[in-house]
Amino acid sequence: MLTNTFGFFIGFFGIELLAALIHRYLMHGPLWWIHQSHHKSKGGWEMNDWFAVLFASLGVGLLFGGFLDYIAIFWGYVGVGISVYGVVYFILHDVLVHSRWGSIPKPLSRYLLALRKAHRMHHKHTTAQPGESYGLLIFHPRYFLETKRDQTADRNQ
Ligand SMILES: [Zn+2]
Ligand SMILES: [Zn+2]
Repeated sequence: MLTNTFGFFIGFFGIELLAALIHRYLMHGPLWWIHQSHHKSKGGWEMNDWFAVLFASLGVGLLFGGFLDYIAIFWGYVGVGISVYGVVYFILHDVLVHSRWGSIPKPLSRYLLALRKAHRMHHKHTTAQPGESYGLLIFHPRYFLETKRDQTADRNQ
């Protein structure tokens, strides 16, 4: 049971870290020709969406492999973690930040406001380099402090 829970968390947080590294070093590097479709998006499907297909295949592949006994069950739970992360990523990145398939009504928690701010700052950059905030759920604490400052300023108006 403990190993399964551990597998889930390895999958969930591991894919956040792995995706942040891939985003930083490949998508904003040699694979910028694919990823730039997301930074120059005009709505609709993007070439960059193939990355979502790739990550989803990894999660679902491990999930089925593990639960159908092709590989250790541990990896099945890693797949569950990656798949759940994919759903969370879709809701936060595609809906909350980019309003691609609908939008989330306010009020949002400070963490979610800071997450949105951090990712919007990532999109201020329309070239491969320089950049900031390559992860989604884990971001620099300064965005959290900036959000807190904005909220205090709003309240004092
Ligand atoms: Zn990017
Ligand atoms: Zn984005």
